[in-house]
Amino acid sequence: MQIAKPPCGNARLGGAWPLTLAAVLFFAGAPFAQKDSAQQTPASARAPAVLFTLKPLGHNVFAAIPNPGSGSGGNSGIIIGDDGVAVVDTFQTAAAARQLLEAIRKQTQLPVKFVINTHYHLDHVAGNGVFAEAGAVIFAQTNVRDWIHSENSKFFGAAITPEQKAMVAELMAPEVVYDRGVDLYLGSRRIDVRVFPGHTGGDSVVMVPDAEVVFTGDLFWNHMLPNLIDASTEPMMATLTALASANAPAAFVPGHGEVGTARDVTEFRGYIANLRELVGQARVQGKSGDALADAVLPQLREKYGQWGIFDHFAKRNILDTAAELDGTKKIPKPAATAQ
Ligand SMILES: [Zn+2]
Repeated sequence: MQIAKPPCGNARLGGAWPLTLAAVLFFAGAPFAQKDSAQQTPASARAPAVLFTLKPLGHNVFAAIPNPGSGSGGNSGIIIGDDGVAVVDTFQTAAAARQLLEAIRKQTQLPVKFVINTHYHLDHVAGNGVFAEAGAVIFAQTNVRDWIHSENSKFFGAAITPEQKAMVAELMAPEVVYDRGVDLYLGSRRIDVRVFPGHTGGDSVVMVPDAEVVFTGDLFWNHMLPNLIDASTEPMMATLTALASANAPAAFVPGHGEVGTARDVTEFRGYIANLRELVGQARVQGKSGDALADAVLPQLREKYGQWGIFDHFAKRNILDTAAELDGTKKIPKPAATAQ
């Protein structure tokens, strides 16, 4: 696969809110106290000018992978059709979204017609407004419309500032929602958007059949530990099995990490299965809380210690999975059933 030149040399850093905040939110789910960048060099001084690398996947489909330290959040994608463009996820900052728009303009002058949000997490939706302003319609699973405002504040912890609250409140919500999926057309090019369970309860997978590309959102992290804060891991495994077997030759664009293959998806499923098994064994031994995490962590490290952000998410993954197996895990509920 050829790696294109980065899309843009003149970044406008900052955006609608401080990049310091954005850099931290790359790990949606990380308590802010852990990464108090106020004590360190301002993130805006560290962030690279080019916020992501555009990777051509053939047939006018591209993945946009955030550059390290850019604070741009999750991966995005570009699908160019006969009469317009669709964008999959919009990064974590307006600055990155603007660079994506500039990158699209270098490929085509066709209008950006559709944006699909794979799920509500801030690091995938914060640039929605940039594309809405450019004329795009934002699509997502029904729950995203509520959760984009009701659930994203939790990532800032108890010490959330008024500015952070306002930023979440101002996120552009999807304008068209669906329960199970939608077919979108860019002239003769069809895009299949399908809902799969596992990461949040409102996750869409975006498939481009004629290019054999699958954008998975955060249902798949490529050789990285995932954020499981909202996850239901049993259906997540079924989703990963289904995606890998139905799209064996496809390029899989994960929510985080490099573009992968069906085999990488299956390896990631193996991580979730191992995690559940190890946590299950520790529970049978009567362990819970920190004792359970201490028992599982070395076993997990032995096999997956080389995976990205292991140290950041391993203990959280263990505790989240223990809570899930205990039946005590709190995950977002659809607005109609929320208490
Ligand atoms: Zn996510």
